[in-house]
Amino acid sequence: MKLIVKGKFFTGKGILEGSVLIEDERIARIAREIREPADEVLDYNKKGHIVLPGLVDIHVHMRDFEQSYEEDFQTGTSAAAMGGFTVVADMPNTKPEVNKPTVLKKRERVAKNGALVDYGLYYGVPDREDDLVDEIRALAVGFKVFMQREFYTGKRLLTEKVLEFASRKKMLVVAHAENPRLFVETWMGATGTPEAEASAIKDMTGLALSRDFPLHITHISSAEGVSEFLRWKRRAKITADTCPHYLLLSEEDARLQGAIAKVYPPIKTKADAKVLLKKVKDGGIDAISSDHAPHSLEEKANFERAPAGFPGLETTLPLLLTMVNKGLLGIEDVVRACATNPSKILGLDLVGTIEKGKIGNLTVIDLHRLSRINPKSFMSKAKYSPFEGREVEGGPVATIIRGQPVMLDGEIVARKGWGKNVKTYG
Ligand SMILES: [Zn+2]
Repeated sequence: MKLIVKGKFFTGKGILEGSVLIEDERIARIAREIREPADEVLDYNKKGHIVLPGLVDIHVHMRDFEQSYEEDFQTGTSAAAMGGFTVVADMPNTKPEVNKPTVLKKRERVAKNGALVDYGLYYGVPDREDDLVDEIRALAVGFKVFMQREFYTGKRLLTEKVLEFASRKKMLVVAHAENPRLFVETWMGATGTPEAEASAIKDMTGLALSRDFPLHITHISSAEGVSEFLRWKRRAKITADTCPHYLLLSEEDARLQGAIAKVYPPIKTKADAKVLLKKVKDGGIDAISSDHAPHSLEEKANFERAPAGFPGLETTLPLLLTMVNKGLLGIEDVVRACATNPSKILGLDLVGTIEKGKIGNLTVIDLHRLSRINPKSFMSKAKYSPFEGREVEGGPVATIIRGQPVMLDGEIVARKGWGKNVKTYG
């Protein structure tokens, strides 16, 4: 497959006008003008259109297995393609959990069969030390530690084994950092406070510093959390992300939405959101993830029992581009936080920028397309959103993966099974 994409490209040297040729899945040429036969030519020399490096989401839940009714690899990665994401990294808290080599292998089979976009897999804290084996490295991009359930309670020793293993094998550890000893009762039940977040960040970064493994703190939600993280960032090899809902919603907004906006960590105050945005802008916070966490509407109906999380893959980019149009973020901030840095965090040298020799993953945006967030049109099985009804300006018009268009103008144009594990990138 030979694909030529024309238009304005976001490169390390700014926005350049020209053409990119993708051949055998890689960017073969970048030039002012490419005149040679190709299987397909996509011309984005249109007002407001920019070709970005393919976006990478380091925190999604594709569910599948016994929770296919909530989401599966086909619907979840279709949602990713519709949202402009070329790579998604899937969390291991599935049923059964991805924390045994046999389940990881099964996860790979299911993902490979269903995925339309490329994917990474995380491995959870195992139930026995024997399940920390070398073969994890061949399939997984890293480990996920859900600190409140694993580090602070029953699985402390096994979590420490994971950290030792990660340190030995130089594997990434992604932590959901909240200390349950500092939870308080709120409208959502016992939930994390800014202190709970800061305390867990302190505990985990301290370990990263002494044991030396690459640590990523996911979905930082509070000003206190981010300032604790930044205190350590100067000394250790640690990174962090936040999510659009922590940048754009407040506690009051969430309370009005009830179960739909129930999420862990809980959404904090407007003042927290302001600090998080500032830190995304100045690069203190490295990345933005969606924490795409689909559940069925029936599960969300009963407030007390409603599971935490909501879908985010189809809203993240339109919400961020709207912020760009309002002058709250620059397009370079979106590229850094959603493409370049997430690629680096996952250790993927061959994506994240548009350069000759890199993998041909591209996200084309129309910076001024007007729409309204409409969950009914989601590809995700979870057809609800705390952002429902919002007017947005800007969104993806094409998602290209290894030279293959997967989404064009809001239509899925590739087959399931096109997506592959990023561990095959080489
Ligand atoms: Zn999550």
